Order: sequence, then C-alpha cells, then structure tokens
Amino acid sequence: MTETVLAVLNQPSRDAAPHDPAADAFTWAKPLEEHIQVQDLGITRGDGVFETITVVDGHPQALEPHLARFGRSAAMLDLPEPDADAWRQAIEAVCARLDPVREAFVKTVLTRGVEGTDRPTGWVYGAPSPDSTAARTEGISVVTLDRGYRHDVERTSPWLLQGAKTLSYGVNMAALREAVRRGADDAVFVSTDGYVLEGTRANLILSVDGRLVTPRTDIGILAGTTQADVFRFAEEAGIETAYALVTLDDFHAADAAWLVSSVRQAAPIRSVNGTSWSVDAELTARINDFLLAREV
Ligand code: PLP
Repeated sequence: MTETVLAVLNQPSRDAAPHDPAADAFTWAKPLEEHIQVQDLGITRGDGVFETITVVDGHPQALEPHLARFGRSAAMLDLPEPDADAWRQAIEAVCARLDPVREAFVKTVLTRGVEGTDRPTGWVYGAPSPDSTAARTEGISVVTLDRGYRHDVERTSPWLLQGAKTLSYGVNMAALREAVRRGADDAVFVSTDGYVLEGTRANLILSVDGRLVTPRTDIGILAGTTQADVFRFAEEAGIETAYALVTLDDFHAADAAWLVSSVRQAAPIRSVNGTSWSVDAELTARINDFLLAREV
C-alpha cells in the first residue's frame, strides 16, 4: 500500500525562529509517529491554516495560487507569513517522494505553534487521492443549507474568518454530515439574506444562458484555485464567465451547475434538494480533462 509522505518544516516563517538552528529546511518523518505536540494551538484551538493541492503524475497543480492563498489565509489570522520558498521546496520534495500514482494530493498545514513559544508549526504531507470518477461522471446530489451569516460578513465581522482556509473545519464537516442525513452527497451554503455561497469544500459554478457564473469571492467564501482554472478553460474555449451575486432563485433557474475543488475537480450537480437536474456530461468531461492536464 502506498504510504503517506510527511515533511516537517524547520522554519515555516522567516518572521519566527527556526525550531532547530542547525537543522535542514525540513525533515522527513513517519506519519504515524508522534510529531505534533499536544499543546499545539492548531490542535487545541484549530488556530492555523491549510491548503490541499492536487498532484497529477507527481506534479502539483496551481501551486503558486495555493501558496498565495496560504499567505492570505495566514495574514487573515495574523499568523507569521509563511516562507513561500521553504513551503515550495517541501511540497516539491513530498511530490517527488510519492509513489507514482496518477492522482495524489499534498496538504500544507501552518499552525500558531505550541502555546507560549511564538514559533509556528508547519508540515506537508502527501498521499494518493481517493477515486473521484463517480462524482465526476455520474454527478453529486446537494442540499442547500443556511450558513447563518449575511453575504457581507467578511466586511462586517472579519474576526469570523469567513473566506480564510482555516483549520476550523468542524462546521464544514458538520454541514456535510447534515447533507448526508438529508440523503445528499454534499451541501451548498446560502447566506441568511438569500445568496448562494459555496460548498462545504468546493466552489459553485453555474451555467446560465451559455455563460459560466460563480458567486463573487468577496462574500465570505474561499477564492477557489479550481474555479479560477475553470474560468481559464472557459476563456480559452470562448465561453463567457462572470462573478456575480447569485440568489437562491438564480441557482434554481440555472441550466447546470458544478461543485469544483482540488482533488475532486469538477463534480456536476445532478440533484438539488431532491429535485433532479440535468448534467452536461460533455462540458463536464472537457472541464475535467483541462483541469487534470494543468501544467501550472
Ligand atoms: N470552498 C471551500 C470552503 C473549500 O474548502 C475549498 C477547498 O477545499 C474550496 C472552496 C475550493 O478551493 P480549491 O479549488 O482551491 O481547492
């Protein structure tokens, strides 16, 4: 069985001291051994940020956009700035060490570190991806769930960290379990004032009158690397794109829709709240072919 590969960074940020001044940039570690201290604020408070990056044939996709978002998320939490060079080096080393599978992923994690030390903790691990063929071809069912915030939460209450990729994903996982309880595969969050936001771990893209439309990224949602690349595909294919405020009614009136994210890529939505939707199989296949062939 393919093993998970783990690299623990010695100095995740140049703004903080290294863990060991004499050590290399990162050390290889065995994932099942103990590395993270129990007082690490990433564990005790979910106080940290992460990225999940698709790896195809050993090549990390959208690496620079992921690193840029990692830095933005860290800044939103007032964490020390991740040293992009150190992270890039560890990510590429993990990718090179993975067993040669077609699709894998690496995850980067930066926490505030052990309480009282002022030294962030950072690690990168990689493993083969689960098989997403069924989601990509047969599609997924979703339910809409109230997120409990207005669409302008990022501006009115930045301390809620909406739009940052933080380690506090307990709410997202609870929403996913609620979706499953309601008989669906995933959830789409809706703001209290009626705007469609994003999935629990993915962005939403709609097909509307031949255009691809996604919710604006300034409404407390994550700016997706996959969504940005789907729009790059669309532009190359001559399909118009737009960022917009999308109401629940707009969503229900769309011709087709996808949840898009790293690892699973584009999953067409085949039902919403129990109502069947049509899946554009041909366009979905073109989008996924493009996404899986990404060189950058
Ligand atoms: N929105 C949320 C809440 C996510 O967790 C994710 C990815 O994990 C995304 C959107 C999609 O981001 P990306 O396409 O960069 O993976």
